[in-house]
Amino acid sequence: MKKQIKWLALIYLAAVGSLLFLEVIHFKKMRNVSHQIGESYELISGRDEGLRLEVEYRRFQYKVISYVRGQDDISHADVLTWFDIFWSRAYSIASESSIPDGMDKQEARQLFTDMRIALKEVDPLVQNLKRGDEESLAAIHKALEAFDARVTQLAVAIAQTRVDEAASLQEKLELALQGIDTLLISSTGGGILVLSMLGIEAFRARHAERKIKIREARVRFLAEHDSLTRLGNRAYLNIKMKEFMKEAKANDECFHLLLLDLDKFKDVNDTFGHPTGDQLLKNAARRLSGIFRSEDIVVRLGGDEFAILIKADMANIEKAVSRVISALSSSFVINGHEIHISTSIGISTYPDLSDTAEDLMRDADLALYAAKNAGRNTWALYKHSMSVEIKHRMGLEMDLRNALNNEAGGLEVYYQPQVLFNDKNESLSVIGVEALVRWFHPEHGTIPTVEFIDIAESTGIIDDLSAWVTCQACEDAVLWHKAGFDINLSVNLSPHQLNNRYLPDEIFQVLRKTGMPANKLTLEITESAAVHNTKAAVEMLETLNQQGVSLAMDDFGTGYSNLGYLKSLPLDCLKIDRSFVTHLESNEEDRKLVRGIINLARGMGMKVVAEGVETEYQVEFLRGLHCDVGQGYLFGRPMNKLQLIAMLERERAQQNLEKAVTNSDTDKAQKTNASS
Ligand code: C2E
Ligand code: MG
Ligand code: MG
Repeated sequence: MKKQIKWLALIYLAAVGSLLFLEVIHFKKMRNVSHQIGESYELISGRDEGLRLEVEYRRFQYKVISYVRGQDDISHADVLTWFDIFWSRAYSIASESSIPDGMDKQEARQLFTDMRIALKEVDPLVQNLKRGDEESLAAIHKALEAFDARVTQLAVAIAQTRVDEAASLQEKLELALQGIDTLLISSTGGGILVLSMLGIEAFRARHAERKIKIREARVRFLAEHDSLTRLGNRAYLNIKMKEFMKEAKANDECFHLLLLDLDKFKDVNDTFGHPTGDQLLKNAARRLSGIFRSEDIVVRLGGDEFAILIKADMANIEKAVSRVISALSSSFVINGHEIHISTSIGISTYPDLSDTAEDLMRDADLALYAAKNAGRNTWALYKHSMSVEIKHRMGLEMDLRNALNNEAGGLEVYYQPQVLFNDKNESLSVIGVEALVRWFHPEHGTIPTVEFIDIAESTGIIDDLSAWVTCQACEDAVLWHKAGFDINLSVNLSPHQLNNRYLPDEIFQVLRKTGMPANKLTLEITESAAVHNTKAAVEMLETLNQQGVSLAMDDFGTGYSNLGYLKSLPLDCLKIDRSFVTHLESNEEDRKLVRGIINLARGMGMKVVAEGVETEYQVEFLRGLHCDVGQGYLFGRPMNKLQLIAMLERERAQQNLEKAVTNSDTDKAQKTNASS
């Protein structure tokens, strides 16, 4: 661009220089021409001089005759005036320069001399002339007679010469004027050409500059905007945040940063595919933009995260936030699917609680986290007290992600035995285990399972965590099978996983990879998850079930599933929630409820597992109701795989011993019978 401007300046200077040069030549020629015009004028007036000499001579003659011969209106003064005129004309014409080119110089000089002599001769006669003085009249005639013809001849000669000269000058003038015309045309043409060139160059430069500016603006737009939703992006937010801060500082105002996260958006992508997810984001962005004013800044930070900068008091912020929550929770119809999402919002305030851009982002993020923990589809305003608790939770989230990618992360799968309540046999045998994950945090020690499962659920880590647990547990189960323990493995499915349409494929892949038989695997789904699931989830469960995988309804009794719904699921087993088993001894209501659940399961052809069995009373009660399986601390706490194998070995040894004792008792009895 600079180079172009340099060139333009050079062209411009050259053009101006050439024009000045042409103007100087033009000026010189003009002066020359004006000089020639003057000359030509003189020549033309010179031609008049010859004619005038003759005219004035004749006039003088006439005046003299008229005066002498008595014409009244002619006075002696008239005669003298015309004599003076003729005299001075004759003198002025009688110079060397007045001799016409065509005349013989000698002859002309003679004529002028004779004329002067004759004039001097007639002068006293004219001065003293009287009316009727025929004598003086005759003398004057005589003195001038010789000039009669010569004056005319001189006048004609002068006029002719001057006309010729004037004509040649005219020609020169014509040529000069033509030259000037050419000069003018060429300088004008040159000027126009140069100006056009400059104009074109200027236009091209302007055009190029405009194109560059458009391109720059486009590049800047792309750098600062999100291509999917056309909203600003993180970079744009940072720019605007600085502007907001500057303005707020100058005017002593405050503003808010809203961080917004679409709840369970990943499930939308997993269930309906990414094109539908993208469309949902576009529609959500449109709904959001419709809620805020043009001076508010709405951006998409990436994924399902949006941010809004807004100047308003807290009452208006609350109104805006409620409108956002309700706008985003009304259903979206995309590609024929009716999709429901919700949103969580975290809010930070400048400058009251957060006074740098980083603080604003971090604090809004903490508040968002708090909103999600508060059950989602809600909002939270950042408070200082949030920091400690949430930072701890956020730290755990990060550690959990790392733990999943790292063998030494402290995660381990524990197994809790499930025993068969056998009516006929007094002894209870382990027929299965439930895989329960444990996290031995290198810094914080054992983290309660519900705590980190909750974190995993709210952050989506649960998918990876469950996949890891399933894989580990299947590998372990195959080893036990190889060791001769034919036990069933139960694995918990997160509600989150029921939204993953690839779940059956993922499970089958684990089965193939580990060599685990499908009919030895039970997947536990919680009642609440089942209630909220869709037709697609039921189809997935059916696919799994058709391949031999059993399905159990976990924590049964805590949810709100109706019978019709229960029947629609391909369930093999109901697990009675621990809360009903715990108080069996003391609570008649719980006893009735457990009896009802067992009867229901029987009626629907399902097996029943009682959770949280801790006492002999509970065992007896449950066995009395023909409950199939028991799980609880009484039979064994969740333990690691080595402890479990040891337990299984012990049990097998015990059973072998019991068998041996029974066999020897039978032998003894047979021998006694035989001897008697
Ligand atoms: P859950 O599936 O209902 O598992 C049973 C819970 O009851 C386990 O708690 C177990 O330790 C506890 N429990 C079993 N018997 C007794 C008893 O006699 N008395 C008492 N007081 N408690 C007993 P845990 O291991 O803390 O797990 C809590 C919940 O976390 C589980 O409930 C399950 O929903 C979830 N969870 C655990 N591991 C996983 C996992 O790998 N994946 C998923 N998605 N969820 C898991
Ligand atoms: Mg369970
Ligand atoms: Mg349970």
